[in-house]
This record gives sequence, C-alpha cells and structure tokens, in this order.
Amino acid sequence: MKIEKTISNWGKFPKIKASEYLFENFRKTKDVLQEEKTVLARGNGRCYGDAALNDTVISTLSLKHFLKFDKTEGILTCEAGVLFSDILDFVVPKGFFLPVTPGTKFITVGGAIAADVHGKNHHKDGCFSEFVTQFKLVVETGETIMCSRTENTTLFWETIGGMGLTGIIVEATFRLKKIENSYFYVESIKAKNLPEIFQLFEASKDWTYTVAWIDCLQKGKHLGRSILMRGEHATQEQLSAKQRQEVLKTTPKKSIKIPFNFPGFALNTLSVKLFNLLYYYKQTAKIKKGVTHFEPFFYPLDAILEWNKIYGKNGFIQYQFVLPKGAGMAGLQEILEAIATSKQGSFLAVLKLFGANNPNAHNSFPIEGYTLALDFKVNKKLYTLVPKLDAIVKKYGGRIYRAKDSLSEASLMEYVNIQTTKFNSVQNRRINQTPK
Ligand SMILES: Cc1cc2nc3c(=O)[nH]c(=O)nc-3n(C[C@H](O)[C@H](O)[C@H](O)COP(=O)(O)OP(=O)(O)OC[C@H]3O[C@@H](n4cnc5c(N)ncnc54)[C@H](O)[C@@H]3O)c2cc1C
Repeated sequence: MKIEKTISNWGKFPKIKASEYLFENFRKTKDVLQEEKTVLARGNGRCYGDAALNDTVISTLSLKHFLKFDKTEGILTCEAGVLFSDILDFVVPKGFFLPVTPGTKFITVGGAIAADVHGKNHHKDGCFSEFVTQFKLVVETGETIMCSRTENTTLFWETIGGMGLTGIIVEATFRLKKIENSYFYVESIKAKNLPEIFQLFEASKDWTYTVAWIDCLQKGKHLGRSILMRGEHATQEQLSAKQRQEVLKTTPKKSIKIPFNFPGFALNTLSVKLFNLLYYYKQTAKIKKGVTHFEPFFYPLDAILEWNKIYGKNGFIQYQFVLPKGAGMAGLQEILEAIATSKQGSFLAVLKLFGANNPNAHNSFPIEGYTLALDFKVNKKLYTLVPKLDAIVKKYGGRIYRAKDSLSEASLMEYVNIQTTKFNSVQNRRINQTPK
C-alpha cells in the first residue's frame, strides 16, 4: 500500500512530501520498481540530513524477523529491518554483543550496512562491514541477489556505504562479539585543550573504545576543552555484587520522552554555553573510573526518546567530517575557532579517532584520522557557516559523512559515486547537480 506523507530524518531537516510503500513481499516490490521512476530503501530514518529521502521510498521496517542464530560461532542472520535494539535484547542474554554500534541503537541492519556505520572502536575493529559476511539485495529488475566476500563481490562492496543506491538490502548475516557480561570498565579524563586531548587519544590507542566530548564554544587557551572516555568490556572481577547478580542484563525499559517541539528561543548560545560548562565541571576530579552498563556508555541519548524535539520544529543539522591524522590538529583548531566565532553552539560535539579503513569498503566514510560530529540548530547563519567549515575540511583533505549531511559541498562526499537510475535520493541528486 502506498501512503502519501511528509518525511524527514532525525534532524527534521529537510522535510519532503513522499510516497511511502511498506516492503510487503518480493512480487509487489518488483511491481513498485517497475511503476515508480526512482525508489529508495528507508530504514528507521536515524540518519540526519537528506540521505534516506526520496519522492518514493520503501520502508523496510516490516522486515523484522530473526532467521538464524549460530550460538557456537556467534553468527546471526536476520531481515534488514531488524533494529539494533532488538538484536541487543535477543543476543545479550546469550552472551553476545554488537561488534560495532553507533551512538543510537534505534537503527536497522540495512541502514547499518548502507551507511557502513562506525562506533567508538573504529581504531581497533573498523566499521560494521568488517563483520558482515553476506546479504541479499533486491536490484533494479526486482531480482534478489546474494552478495558476499566471494559471490557478487563488486555489488557487495558497492552496497557497503552505498547509501541505498545499489538496491534494497532485505536480509543480512554478520558476526557478533562474545561477552562475559554487559558491563564496561570506563575511565573519563578531563583535557584542558586540543593538544591535551590529542595526547590522550594517542595514549589510549590500545583501549578498545575511545570517544571524547568537546566544548566547541571555548576559545584561546581553552580551545578544545574536552572529556575523553575510554572503555573495555569489564572483567567479572570488576563487577559489583549487584552487577554480578545480573551479569547479562539488557536494556532498561524506562525512558523519558520529549513530548513536544521546544520553542525556538529555548536553545540559544547561552543555554548551550551553560550546558557545556555544567557538563565539564560536573566531573570534579581529573580522572574518574567506574564500571557501567553498556546502555549509558554507548547510548546516553537514547534514554531520552525523541530528543530531537529540543531543537524546535525547524530541526537541526549534524555536521560530521573526518580529517587525515596528520592534518588533525591544525584543521580542528581552525574549525573550532570558526565555530566559536560564529556563536552557533553545538552541545555534545563528539570527537573520535578513526583507524585505517578496509580499502575494499571504498564507499565507507572513515579514513584514518580525527572525526568530529556537531549539532547546529537550523537557522539562516548556517548557510554561511557550513561553506566556511567545508572550505577548511577541503583544505585539509577531509570528507563529510553522507549519513549526516544536508548542506555540504558535493566534492566532499564524492567518495560514494554509484551510477544509478532506479535507486536515488534527494541527497544524491543534490550532490550530482551541484556545479563542480
Ligand atoms: C543519536 C544518533 C547517533 C548516531 N551515531 C552514529 C555513530 O556513532 N556512527 C555512525 O556511523 N552513525 C551514527 N548515526 C547515524 C546512523 O547510525 C546512520 O545514519 C544509520 O544509517 C541509520 O540507520 P537507519 O536504519 O535509521 O537508516 P535510514 O536513516 O533510514 O537510512 C540511512 C541510509 O541507509 C539506506 N538504507 C536504509 N535501509 C536500507 C536497506 N534495507 N537497503 C538499502 N539501503 C538502506 C537509506 O537509503 C539511507 O541512505 C547516529 C544517528 C543518531 C540519530
């Protein structure tokens, strides 16, 4: 069934009118592919910008079945609309964990492959694709093709990070990580400025999980003020008596929900400055150590459902770029200065260090270096700030993450270049139409 509706992704910007089909079966999908000029698979709409948008979309949220689980090898096969949150509920009690996870668990398996998502362990484990052994893809003709590392390999690697432009992933098989418990030993370390946070990342490169929160409104000697978090799967000895009673505890069910869009004035430079200040000084000691459940460590924002409403009805953009490692310090300094000067505050800007990427996964976003993700409320000033930031990213040989983008320059996203007629998106058309 086709429904006419307005759709947008997590940033609520841009919004478009679209025809949405729910994936029902292969025969009907073939008909849709024949009837519609272009189509695009859509998962849970957790990308930020205009990636999962098209005049006609096919929602994969109906594809939600687990198909096979090999608990000796930790290999799972499921349909592409299964959410990471469902996988965690299913596998954590059995002693397994997602090998790579982004900062939200409300994404589908199809979306994870199409964006080739990364997590806090990229420097150690790479992207999600490192663990994907095979998937089934519905292509333009309506045929279903099995793609793996040995079968239809070109299509396999094109689809990874291919942002839905090669077809509709309907089923996937991937390896999980074995765990003894669902807790993490975490250290949080305060850094006064950019050189210090870079040193901390270097000193923490043997840790499996690292990430830093940066206060991007700081200038001068405080530029780059941040808190690094580094973590490892906790050993049984590190658990408290209470944690030992429930070693493979899954997700707590209670979450807070933002009931309505906040008014435009609620989030301004002052409130963001105040939030950042409180966040930095909440931790009084230079270093804090403790054992925590995976939920607050990986998904702190998921505890507040629909938190995207705090940016108001006009929404927000997320700007995520990566700079090659050698250019990281100078490039980040310039970018942070440009942001602080613009007074376009972003709270919880997130900095990560990527390791080398798999050259076969040529459409994936990561390259070895520093990646920063920032939120900006949508307003007129963004149309001058984004080109300024883009110019700096370009100057230092960086690129922009297509899963987050809505306003950036085409040349920074051309690492994904798929010749397509049937599968298309608002983002892909925008990039291809921008004069070079
Ligand atoms: C709070 C938050 C934190 C995040 N943190 C991170 C992070 O740390 N690392 C990271 O990498 N990403 C992160 N993201 C982005 C998110 O992980 C990706 O955008 C992911 O692709 C969203 O999955 P989805 O199922 O919602 O897909 P959608 O947003 O619906 O679609 C994303 C893309 O995948 C394509 N697609 C979706 N399903 C299919 C399918 N079945 N077949 C073919 N193509 C398909 C779409 O066409 C689109 O191009 C974060 C997002 C949020 C909201």
